[in-house]
Amino acid sequence: MPRCPCGCIFGRRALLVSALAAAAVSAPVGRAFAAEPAAAADPALIDDLVAANRILYDQGVVDGFGHISARHNKDPARYLLSRSMAPALVTAADIMEFDLDSNPVDARGRTPYLERFIHGEIYKVRPDVMAIVHSHSPAVLPFADTNVKLKPMNHIAGFLGDGPPVFEIRATAGTASDMLVRNNDIGRALAKTLGASSVALMRGHGSVAAAQSVKHVVFRAIYTEVNARTEIQALTIGKPNFLNEKEAAAAMKTNDALVDRPWALWKQRVVPK
Ligand SMILES: [Zn+2]
Repeated sequence: MPRCPCGCIFGRRALLVSALAAAAVSAPVGRAFAAEPAAAADPALIDDLVAANRILYDQGVVDGFGHISARHNKDPARYLLSRSMAPALVTAADIMEFDLDSNPVDARGRTPYLERFIHGEIYKVRPDVMAIVHSHSPAVLPFADTNVKLKPMNHIAGFLGDGPPVFEIRATAGTASDMLVRNNDIGRALAKTLGASSVALMRGHGSVAAAQSVKHVVFRAIYTEVNARTEIQALTIGKPNFLNEKEAAAAMKTNDALVDRPWALWKQRVVPK
């Protein structure tokens, strides 16, 4: 079993694996679309997902583009993601449900994101992942598009480990694609590149972050962007001395227990009490 950088609890992982397998067995053979929505998701999860959309915009991770999903709390073979729209404008009514092939199960006339396959394919192979962010956050792009590796500049970005892998879409989609993860094959290749990492960069495109909760993935998406800015600054004055892998792992473990603190700060800016 690969080492999980998200600090997943193996008991929960085992439960999810068996639930995913059961869902696959119970699905009718040849079914093209998920039949019906799972039981209603926890309203607190929907609230977090809506807040997360707005936080990611407020913190400069997403703009008109980019998205965040959460695995359904009642059915691990489903996930929740807004309809296609600017994240800062998302409300609970915009949250759609998808199966892991990224078929919408409750579309009701709503249009899904073209790149929803990022989410479904990662949830398929990472039972520990409960939330995913895809963004084009600008400071990260130089590291996706050059041979300079993004690595943790300080303890807050320990989740970057030895540096995120970089996804090359040409290997799957050829040399004339529009760079979008617009089908399951490309999504599967991206999920393979991500492997057991917390973050993967996407050449000519952006990045994806994965974590064990909505709060954790928001933390990682924001600090991936912050770390990229810091690393670019460091590169202008000298050679960075990054955290080593053991320091990064230890820092990630500490920070994973502290995500409520920045979450409360970020949330009050977009969802005033
Ligand atoms: Zn994109």
